[in-house]
Amino acid sequence: MSLPASPYEVVIIGGGLAGLSLSISLARKGVRVILFEKQEYPFHRVCGEYISMESWPYLESLGISTEGLPRIDQLLVSAPDGYTLSYPLAPGGFGISRYTLDLLLAQKAVEAGVRLKTGSKIQDITFHNDRFTLSTDQEQISAPVVVGSFGKRSNLDVKMERDFVRKRHKKSNLYVGVKYHIRYPQPKGQIALHNFPYGYCGLSEVDGDKHCLCYLTTAANLAASGNNIAALEKNILSTNPYLRGIFQQAHFLWEKPQTIAQISFSRKLPVEEHVLMTGDSAGMISPLCGNGMSIALHSGLLAGQVILPFLEGSLDRKSMETSYRDLWSAQFSARLRVGRMIQSLFGSPYTTRLFLKVLQPFPKFTKHIIQSTHGNPF
Ligand SMILES: Cc1cc2nc3c(=O)[nH]c(=O)nc-3n(C[C@H](O)[C@H](O)[C@H](O)COP(=O)(O)OP(=O)(O)OC[C@H]3O[C@@H](n4cnc5c(N)ncnc54)[C@H](O)[C@@H]3O)c2cc1C
Repeated sequence: MSLPASPYEVVIIGGGLAGLSLSISLARKGVRVILFEKQEYPFHRVCGEYISMESWPYLESLGISTEGLPRIDQLLVSAPDGYTLSYPLAPGGFGISRYTLDLLLAQKAVEAGVRLKTGSKIQDITFHNDRFTLSTDQEQISAPVVVGSFGKRSNLDVKMERDFVRKRHKKSNLYVGVKYHIRYPQPKGQIALHNFPYGYCGLSEVDGDKHCLCYLTTAANLAASGNNIAALEKNILSTNPYLRGIFQQAHFLWEKPQTIAQISFSRKLPVEEHVLMTGDSAGMISPLCGNGMSIALHSGLLAGQVILPFLEGSLDRKSMETSYRDLWSAQFSARLRVGRMIQSLFGSPYTTRLFLKVLQPFPKFTKHIIQSTHGNPF
């Protein structure tokens, strides 16, 4: 049975930063776009909410005013035993909660003419005769271009049997993320990265006079605490004196944290089964680098650069896919590689301290490492 002709040229799956920003820029150029997001805005999600300055101009161009947002330009890193290194972050970043930012982008998408289907989860994608067919529980839709912006791990990764889900992961290679909004008297302009055995916790200011406290640890570490978050925070995170102080003194604004499991930093491909993958769907950088959000925004921008000439007929599908793969790799492959290296060094309680000790007398080298995970403004 063939589907009625679809009014849409591009279907975007997932309304995080990658999907929403791409939808706005395509719709503003006259492309007919539909975006499916399984949740309803606004909602909280696990993220440290520190955005590196490289995406400032792009966010402004999308109509997101960054005025009045807390600016962050100092990094404090502590080892599990409390040994610290502090470092100026140039050009640094700013803080905004995903609750606020994703809602603002969703509103801009609707203003730009994007058909935004929230509370709607894509269950299946097939590609046949140069067109995609996608299904939710309620409907089917067809289109010539599909963009996967469905984040770190989605039902579609399983459906598409992507390599990183088929691989058998040890619990020490799978991570869980936990996030709270808190009130805490942190020095202005500082982002802190407090390490604890087999994990790290970021703390920085966001809009609304709040702080985002967000940590990542191995699934094995959580299992060792009986899969109990409170026990993990009391017995493991609080071995770091800074974190002990925060958990004792901060005012926690939510009863329960946001959590996410099964995070993996394994390599992914930027194009699979003709779907252009953006953001975390194409590859996830270690949160230690603090710029997964910028990569998500930037990869959406790159996808737009190949989709437009394809729709206009000046690129065929194969060239569109090859160009996207090349653009993506040139921009992000090396950064993700450095991110994986840093992630592994911050794994054990001993290497973290050693790493910080080695870095302390070499500020230029520290600057080089930070810069090699960051890109230029776009
Ligand atoms: C613990 C932790 C801390 C972090 N801290 C920072 C930080 O401080 N700074 C930073 O820059 N980055 C940080 N990151 C990384 C950052 O959060 C991500 O890189 C970024 O959110 C990726 O955006 P995205 O658009 O690719 O995916 P997401 O923002 O995850 O959006 C994906 C969307 O797809 C939707 N979806 C999934 N499947 C379907 C489906 N089948 N149908 C419809 N919708 C679907 C989901 O509901 C979701 O809304 C952190 C990550 C973690 C885990």
